[in-house]
Amino acid sequence: MPERFDVIIIGTGAGGGTLAHTLAPSGIRILLLERGNFLPREMANWDPESVFVDGRYISSDTWYDADGTAFQPQVHYFVGGATKLYGAALYRLRPEDFHELPHVDGLSPAWPLSYEDFEPYYTKAEWLYRVHGNHGEDPTEGPWSQQYPWPALSHEPRIQQLFDDLQRGGYHPFRAPCGVMLDESDRARSTCIRFTWCDGYPCLVHAKSDAEVVAVRPILDLPNVTLLVDAQVASLETDSIGGAVTGVVVSRGGNMERYEADLVVVSAGAANSAKLLLESANDRHPNGLANGSDQVGRNYMFHNCKAVVALSRELNETVFQKTLAINDFYLPWNDYPWPAGNIQMVGKSNAAAMKGEEPNLTRFAPHWTLADTAKHAVDFWLTTEDLPLPDNRVTLDGDGNVHLAYTSTNDDEADRLYQELKKLLNHVGLAEHHVLSKNFYMDMNIPIAGCAHQAGTCRFGTDPASSVLDGNCKAHELDNLYVVDTSFFPSIGAVNPALTTIANAIRVGEHLLERMK
Ligand SMILES: Cc1cc2nc3c(=O)[nH]c(=O)nc-3n(C[C@H](O)[C@H](O)[C@H](O)COP(=O)(O)OP(=O)(O)OC[C@H]3O[C@@H](n4cnc5c(N)ncnc54)[C@H](O)[C@@H]3O)c2cc1C
Repeated sequence: MPERFDVIIIGTGAGGGTLAHTLAPSGIRILLLERGNFLPREMANWDPESVFVDGRYISSDTWYDADGTAFQPQVHYFVGGATKLYGAALYRLRPEDFHELPHVDGLSPAWPLSYEDFEPYYTKAEWLYRVHGNHGEDPTEGPWSQQYPWPALSHEPRIQQLFDDLQRGGYHPFRAPCGVMLDESDRARSTCIRFTWCDGYPCLVHAKSDAEVVAVRPILDLPNVTLLVDAQVASLETDSIGGAVTGVVVSRGGNMERYEADLVVVSAGAANSAKLLLESANDRHPNGLANGSDQVGRNYMFHNCKAVVALSRELNETVFQKTLAINDFYLPWNDYPWPAGNIQMVGKSNAAAMKGEEPNLTRFAPHWTLADTAKHAVDFWLTTEDLPLPDNRVTLDGDGNVHLAYTSTNDDEADRLYQELKKLLNHVGLAEHHVLSKNFYMDMNIPIAGCAHQAGTCRFGTDPASSVLDGNCKAHELDNLYVVDTSFFPSIGAVNPALTTIANAIRVGEHLLERMK
């Protein structure tokens, strides 16, 4: 294997995997370095006990919070990165998310690019990740140049009932965009996939549009693409003036190896990319690579999220529940001057998931009661934007351990969104059919370990004093270093981040092809 390449990409998730897919057809020599291996295809992929209680696919890393308390972050080291476990809800940000947006706790900053700049790449991303949806249903969405490649997924009966009730109540539910390889005209196959594809689970039949399946596997036969798995990048070396990355040092099979390339792209996930840059400090970059602005690791965001389980007397036999969403509270509305966020449905609760996610609450509940509860559950996911605070940040201790300081923002907006959800559920009759003596909701704020939507640690911008990357996601301070994972987000909006990451990786990929011409 040659030790010099045109491009080295570190990480194969939504950012790195998609970038490799964009670059590969050009014939340039690409080395993909992935810390994990291929996620095994095994029956445990579908076993809630293994996935949620045993945490079979969660890394064994230990990180520390601001008080020094250890926790196990929900990060996933596989080819495909976090997308192997993601729910494939593939939303565009709203046009307003690219502008300054006032929130109850402060200002969400503007991006250096507009929604219009991103639109062509959103379209490419939706086609690459085979998104099912229907542009035009959600009143808050921006202009779109092409319809989704696949029609929106149909609702199962209980969710269709909810959809109809919401519409009758004057709300604006829409069919949620989902990245899944599903042809609903093929009923048998469709049933099988509905059973096997959900939030938090890997898809054994590879029917989920994750970065491994959609972006990485299709390019592995190309002679110009080399993938090394179990290859953890330990540091980046620079030339003597610190103007370019000259070497990528990799720990693989117990040995340290070194690779070189004209361009180096870091895409290890927001926390791990910051970690890599910080631990690559040298004489020319004493605070970490590309960190003259002291912004690397800062402005960490992961959304102010809440999982809500509403219980109704009526059975909810839905298998694939993620087909409905509501953005009526995404932007300020008459009753409330702040943007409160997005409401979407998540994978159907089951007893094991409840135990895994709420061990304290459910410790003494017999399994059968939880199983019975889950049969009646209707599950929602509430997302409120959190703000990029400089003190919400990744730092390293002397041993290279990740410390993550985080204080939530916009709690008032998150509470308001929850109140609106409760109103809405009462309105659509979930209150009438309650199983308990009064309407019952279980809500859970997502703890710091739930870093699924981590973003913002190397934000892009025009001013090198306040950002790490320029508009093309190149480090201001180095000529050949790029970052394309969620680190680049200057703000996070209130929808799931993967589609924006994918669109941006395509955008940066096209820029790199132009640069290398
Ligand atoms: C359970 C779950 C559900 C989610 N659901 C959704 C959803 O429905 N919709 C949505 O939009 N988003 C969702 N997300 C979030 C989404 O998956 C992430 O935003 C997205 O994958 C981030 O892409 P990334 O490229 O930044 O990082 P990742 O996809 O995590 O990729 C980072 C890669 O870098 C590798 N790596 C790390 N360190 C190193 C190193 N030192 N050397 C080499 N390789 C390294 C990792 O192994 C990994 O493969 C979900 C996430 C989770 C965990």
